[in-house]
Amino acid sequence: MIPYGRQDIQQADIDTVLEVLQSDFLTQGPKVPAFEQAVADKVGARHALAVNSATSALHIACLALGLDKGDWLWTSPITFVASANCGRYCGAQVDFVDIDPHTYNLCPKALEAKLIQAEKEGRLPKVVVAVHLCGQPCDMEAIHALGQRYGFRIIEDAAHAIGGKYQGEFIGNGRYSDITVFSFHPVKIITTAEGGMAMTNDDRLAERMNLLRSHGVTRDPALMTHEADGPWYYQQVDLGFNYRMTELQAALGVSQMARLDDYVARRNALAERYDELLAALPLTTPWQHPDSYSGRHLYVIGLKLDQIRMTHRQVFEHLREQGIGVNLHYIPVHTQPYYQQLGFQTGDFPEAERYYQGAISLPLYPTMTHDQQDQVVTALTRGLEAA
Ligand SMILES: *Cc1c(COP(=O)(O)O)cnc(C)c1O
Repeated sequence: MIPYGRQDIQQADIDTVLEVLQSDFLTQGPKVPAFEQAVADKVGARHALAVNSATSALHIACLALGLDKGDWLWTSPITFVASANCGRYCGAQVDFVDIDPHTYNLCPKALEAKLIQAEKEGRLPKVVVAVHLCGQPCDMEAIHALGQRYGFRIIEDAAHAIGGKYQGEFIGNGRYSDITVFSFHPVKIITTAEGGMAMTNDDRLAERMNLLRSHGVTRDPALMTHEADGPWYYQQVDLGFNYRMTELQAALGVSQMARLDDYVARRNALAERYDELLAALPLTTPWQHPDSYSGRHLYVIGLKLDQIRMTHRQVFEHLREQGIGVNLHYIPVHTQPYYQQLGFQTGDFPEAERYYQGAISLPLYPTMTHDQQDQVVTALTRGLEAA
């Protein structure tokens, strides 16, 4: 089976992790700050907080922004459930904004229309999570302008997007948002096995997230309510979690960061090759906004179902039978049973649902060979011809 995504682990990665295993620190040593520094320097952010997953990063990002019961968090329905669940963890209510049919990202026009309505009803969102689907950045300038006008804070869910650029600058520099979150799950652009990071330029948000990732406990006298009892002293000043990243993961992350640009370049080259090889087939290839240099985490095609006789499901099953590990990103979050119980219904976000009816993620990863890519194209071409 040609998988839809796959990590690349080289000897240098293995060596650096083994070195950590034989060192004094398996956790809370020098590697985590080194990884944070490497990512912060790369993307141009002031602060970086490594945690054990992007889901944890989203959670503490929402908490740091003050999201609470009675507040609203809005995001795109075409994302992994974690982008919405982080709001629920804080007791907030979640709502969705339909997607742009070209980029598949949260649509700024739909956002504005929804904000106008919400303002009348007195239920404006406190936080909007902008998800850079497949690695292609959202229209952040427009979303940021709406944030200024309507007073919401912005988290970029850049789980797909490290190493990509928006308007020529690295995603994560925080020009148009409060916090940006990366994921280092093995299918993502670089990996630490499990892992995530929150980037911010705001000292106070960084301090809050630093506390929250480690039990709400501090050894910093400036954050304590009174003078330390002695050199052993620490204080719990808030209710936090154990969301820390280990030294093993951070060492792997530092090692992977050295190849970030190569990975993203290779993903873009493969994606452009797919664009050419698939140009004549009854499907849409992923449209790219001129402001965007996508991390190309996913290559999603949209079947033109009115031009083929097979169903979406039949094409998908045909590819799996041919050993092509296709996938589908994502099932619209508002159609998940958990969200339906909260009152969402099929039909609420028509563009997202239309996207879901034709979308297939083709295999794409930096070590994919042209031969493997040709196998994918052949299986897809035959499948669509057989229709
Ligand atoms: C993978 C992913 C997450 C969660 O990342 P983890 O590191 O697995 O917690 C969040 N949002 C999106 C869009 C993702 O793809």
